[in-house]
Amino acid sequence: MTRPPLSGYRRIVVKIGSSLLVDPVGGLKGAWLATLIDDAAELVRSGAEILIVSSGAIALGRTMLGLPRGRLKLEDSQAAASAGQIALARAWAEGLNAHGLAAGQILLTLGDTEERRRYLNARSTVQTLLRLRAVPIINENDTVATSEIRYGDNDRLAARVATMMSADLLVLLSDVDGLYTAPPGGCRTAEFVPSVARITPEIEAMAGSAGSDLSRGGMATKVEAARIATGAGTAMVIASGRRDHPLRAVDEGARATWFAPHGSPVTARKRWIAGTLEPKGALTVDAGAATALRAGRSLLPAGVIAIEGRFQRGDCVIIRDQAGAEIARGLSAYDHADAARIAGCNSGDIEGLLGFTGRAEMVHRDDMALQQT
Ligand code: GLU
Repeated sequence: MTRPPLSGYRRIVVKIGSSLLVDPVGGLKGAWLATLIDDAAELVRSGAEILIVSSGAIALGRTMLGLPRGRLKLEDSQAAASAGQIALARAWAEGLNAHGLAAGQILLTLGDTEERRRYLNARSTVQTLLRLRAVPIINENDTVATSEIRYGDNDRLAARVATMMSADLLVLLSDVDGLYTAPPGGCRTAEFVPSVARITPEIEAMAGSAGSDLSRGGMATKVEAARIATGAGTAMVIASGRRDHPLRAVDEGARATWFAPHGSPVTARKRWIAGTLEPKGALTVDAGAATALRAGRSLLPAGVIAIEGRFQRGDCVIIRDQAGAEIARGLSAYDHADAARIAGCNSGDIEGLLGFTGRAEMVHRDDMALQQT
């Protein structure tokens, strides 16, 4: 698999495992973190968008609160996450600020990527942070997550974030440098696997299930993350973070396992919109809007002349021309009642009509799949 340097990727999600960031005795590994932030800032300067999924809240908080080693009870891990997350976020914010970059904290619970309305909210906040050149620092909201309602490990959380944001690369930094033909420790003849074109049952069998006291993920969750990410068009790499400047090292060709993406993130997302979602309503648009949509633009309220169905914000709707022919499908930024109120109006009037500042587009082009002709 040929791959561009990291700066060749447009939007990169970097996941950092707890054991890289936190020493059970010494606390946060600040010197190492500074070298990672140097690398991230360098990528931002070269034009890439960087999103960080940082583990370490529980590991840090349990040290701060003097909790014992070993498996924690749910309420203790929630308390540890609560104390640790403040310190973790501060370390990221201070490190990024030193490079003139702002950090924005996002704590997700499972429903934020599973339910479409919440998914859209989370996505537009992250998009706004990126537009403002801030670096989103993301973690699971472990203080409220219970064992039934959680991602559970940040490998899969990072893969969900990468697909939600149509990232083109997901970097998993951990204490292993990649995938081996057998789980480390067990088999002496285990060989390193530099690249994976497809996730087959053989690849799955190579991943053991080991995690540690500090982190929840093992190789199995990393391969599962690869399945989520590559299936949505995002390339993934597992690389060692046990060195300073770990992203620069990946860039310079350090040993790592690369997983090839299937399709592009944008086409995968659009395939999902066009093929998987059940439409909950329809918008009929005027001739000007129909031409604009076919040229790849967003649908503005001004071009909408009729609304059918009872849909929620984030639901999939069919977009038709006046003759009734389907032009596209997309996710509506407004529910049916608000859509009816602003249909035919200028985007600048939305606030006056609805009493809140909504999106200028009724259906953003990133959320729209054009009908293939
Ligand atoms: N969200 C957890 C934390 O911040 C880490 C989960 C994981 O290790 O994958 O402590």
